[in-house]
Amino acid sequence: MCGIVGYIGQREALPILLSSLERVTYRGYDSYGVAVLNGHGIEVFKKVGAVDVVRADIPFKGSTGIGHTRWATVGAVSERNAHPHFDCTKQIALVHNGDIDNHRDLRERLAAQGHTFTSETDSEVIAHLIEQKLSDGAELVEAVEAATGELEGSYAIVVLEQTTRRMVVARRGSPVVIGLGDGETYVASDAPAILPYTHRVIYPEDGDVALVTTAGVDIRHNGSKVSRLVRTIDWDVSQIEKGGYEHFMLKEIFEQPQAIRDTITAYPAGLPRLPVENPDHVVFAACGTSLHAGLVGEYLMAGNGKFTVSTVVASEMAVVPFNRPSAGLAIAISQSGETADTIAGMNGLSEAGFKTLAVTNVRHSSIARLANGVIYTTAGPEVAVASTKTFTTQLVIMAMLAARLMDGTERAKSLREAIRTLPNKVQQTLELADEFKSAGEDLARFNNMFIIGKGQTRPVTLEAALKFKEISYVHAEGVPAGELKHGPFALLEANTPVLALVADDAHKMRMLTTLREIKARNAPIYVLTDAPMHDVEDVATRVIILPKVEAGLAAAVFTVASQLMSYYCGRAKNLPIDRPRNLAKSVTVP
Ligand code: GLU
Repeated sequence: MCGIVGYIGQREALPILLSSLERVTYRGYDSYGVAVLNGHGIEVFKKVGAVDVVRADIPFKGSTGIGHTRWATVGAVSERNAHPHFDCTKQIALVHNGDIDNHRDLRERLAAQGHTFTSETDSEVIAHLIEQKLSDGAELVEAVEAATGELEGSYAIVVLEQTTRRMVVARRGSPVVIGLGDGETYVASDAPAILPYTHRVIYPEDGDVALVTTAGVDIRHNGSKVSRLVRTIDWDVSQIEKGGYEHFMLKEIFEQPQAIRDTITAYPAGLPRLPVENPDHVVFAACGTSLHAGLVGEYLMAGNGKFTVSTVVASEMAVVPFNRPSAGLAIAISQSGETADTIAGMNGLSEAGFKTLAVTNVRHSSIARLANGVIYTTAGPEVAVASTKTFTTQLVIMAMLAARLMDGTERAKSLREAIRTLPNKVQQTLELADEFKSAGEDLARFNNMFIIGKGQTRPVTLEAALKFKEISYVHAEGVPAGELKHGPFALLEANTPVLALVADDAHKMRMLTTLREIKARNAPIYVLTDAPMHDVEDVATRVIILPKVEAGLAAAVFTVASQLMSYYCGRAKNLPIDRPRNLAKSVTVP
């Protein structure tokens, strides 16, 4: 998933590259590297671990350079495999985000032509392929065009050539943005990385090859010059800073009332026209946290009498599990809009006859451009790897979509009323932070836990379990309460706590019965509930009462509560909360 950056201008490149790299570190952080062009040639520095701007003591001078922070896909995590990569003559330095499927064949061919490789990566192959094209007589842009024409798979690359001092960017399937300054130009995997320097950006399209100069860019596509719109990013620099919070995750959790309010008010006249206004089937396709938002959408729409609804794991869509619908609407959800699995799943559904609607937080992202329609969450940039405010704003969009598709019904009416209450209900939930802190710290003693719920809290059990895994390294499993006795009960004992999400609805008595059964097996019980009941107090180690949200939308407050519990649990264990091990935020590889 790697982050790539580049700078060409009048100022020292290194500080700009490092601080931009730090802002794309969420994309991967197992190693990093920079290359700066100066009178000595191309100087390179690589290191295993995440970028540490304060401690990165690199003496390079020069006003042109590239950088990379890696999430290894081909080749182990090592200094040797860290980017930038070079050709044989060290004329070409290259950083790459993506996966080259035919890298073995290319490597064999290039080795037979006499190229020597110094890393195990697929990325290095691209540098040698460009070198080969240059030695065949091409100049850099032509060489990159010819080389990328032979690549199968995905790439966003920035290439630096020593002799001509030129920089070229190319992409297919992996994101890249070019920022325009005054006599200087920036490159990054996404816009927040260069926001402190410029708000004017160009998004190259798949297949574009761009010569980047201090004056801007010349973009070519299939050998012809093309122009791409210059867009203005309306995000603010303060949104990508910690603002006094210990971690981005905590800041983003506390931003939720505002993010929800912004998402509601972004569509004052209601959601835009949908690609299908009267579907006969709605399917949600997503991965990870966004998948759980889809499950909430499914819950809110289920049994509406007008259309059927289901949710699919986007990466499981190799075979589309549906017959051709007459009016099918596929809703693909992706925070970054670049999630490779979700894009592939959405494309599969499109081929199967569904019209597609993207729900994403990033304007002009790949999914936004590919879908038949798009609805944006207005959460602002999210920096922590674990999604928080993008999830709750996705829930808001799910509720707004449910109300729209069930328009004219009582359910739609009460949903709209409940949506309006959400910013305040979430605010009230945040005010209970001390309670979540002490419960979260308590849970830091355990390595395993179950999280149970029923009906409207069931998707939250999955999302809460994901947060406990990511942030607290607790092996947490979200289970429908009724399923516990069909197997997982075997694992219940004094060291396996159960976190129960008990909503004030028709299921609460059944949940209570389950809690008694758990208590009889000596497992500690933690309860989050908006239904104060004495009987719960009798069985639980700890009960936290949440504000009540109507219309089946309790997921919002239960989620916020579990985010804070997992946050404080991870913090008590002194874990790297904003950058959990082995993860990356925007999962752009399939
Ligand atoms: N395939 C490249 C590597 O392993 C880039 C990985 C990525 O962009 O995720 O170094």
